[in-house]
Amino acid sequence: MVDTKTQYHKIKTEVDAAVIAVMESSRFIGGDVVTNFANNLGKYHNSKHTIPCANGTDALQIALMALGLKAGDEIITPSFTYIATVEVAALLGIKPVFVEVDKHTFCIDVNVIEKAITPKTKAIIPVHLYGHAADMEPIMLLAKKYNLFVIEDNAQGIGNDYTFSEGTKKKTGSIGHIGCTSFYPSKNLGAYGDGGAIFTDDDDLAVKLKMIASHGQSKQYYHDVVGCNSRLDAMQAAILDIKLKHLDEYIAARRKAADYYDAAFAGNEKISVPFRATNNNHVFHQYTLVLKGVDRNGLNKYLAEVGVPSMIYYPVPAHKQKMFESFGGGDYELEITDWLTDRVISLPIHTELDEEQQAFIVKHVLGFVNR
Ligand SMILES: *Cc1c(COP(=O)(O)O)cnc(C)c1O
Repeated sequence: MVDTKTQYHKIKTEVDAAVIAVMESSRFIGGDVVTNFANNLGKYHNSKHTIPCANGTDALQIALMALGLKAGDEIITPSFTYIATVEVAALLGIKPVFVEVDKHTFCIDVNVIEKAITPKTKAIIPVHLYGHAADMEPIMLLAKKYNLFVIEDNAQGIGNDYTFSEGTKKKTGSIGHIGCTSFYPSKNLGAYGDGGAIFTDDDDLAVKLKMIASHGQSKQYYHDVVGCNSRLDAMQAAILDIKLKHLDEYIAARRKAADYYDAAFAGNEKISVPFRATNNNHVFHQYTLVLKGVDRNGLNKYLAEVGVPSMIYYPVPAHKQKMFESFGGGDYELEITDWLTDRVISLPIHTELDEEQQAFIVKHVLGFVNR
């Protein structure tokens, strides 16, 4: 699905030198390398505060804790997402209230949020799934109307520019009260291990986020609140700082690969290619097709046999996971989520994909679909 090895070889000299420099410095945790990366990422993102942490899951958990959400509170989030988005809420005793996604964008359906709001609702967590932005403008308006927080799960959306109706552009992850991202190796800005970051423009929240990520300490060995231990290590920060300079070029390569697939599948009635709303620039963390009248699992298996990786993201939506049985997961009727879950398939997309590889992939996909 990804080719991080070829990508590494293109920046090997720079990366190797940066990693060796960290080892020579013996400053493995914290220090200038981590601070510099956080500053550079904050500039790229146009976020006032960027707090690095250990992974994207922690970023979401720390965000919920910093906003003061507690057991019994509710958050509204799509069920059609990676489990981390909702797991952290459940871990804190917060009830995830699952809503539908938009059939085209795969992101939270803004028209159903209002109905899901109760007196216990504290936050909305939109997910920029596969790299397409959730429709942030109406979400922010709703949040304002009901006095709710918005935490963006931007693990798959980093680098996406969202355009507001009056023309302002903002990066996804810098629009809500807090944005969270992941540097898992296959993500668009991937480390060579784990990593994550939290973004906010709010000074008070930034203090809390930093404190919680660092054992709740206000200064060394003075712990004001219960926190956790969530750090981005210096080697990952050094690597990420180099890769950050290439992020826009990486996104462009993914978009080019998506264009190729789009053209190749155009006009095929059984295949819906990813929708691209005009108010944001899809960064194609995944290239996900919706199949109609095709044995999706059969295609998945066939592709594996001919040496083409493909993935089902995700085979079980959150509301149907055993984990959420005690949160009333089984009570939901989410038709679109279930419909998509049965029909989506993601094809390889990454920065190193060439047309020859794509032609091979397309030939086998079409060969199966048109059988
Ligand atoms: C990857 C991912 C996460 C979690 O990030 P980790 O760094 O793996 O903890 C959360 N949400 C979404 C949508 C993701 O894709």
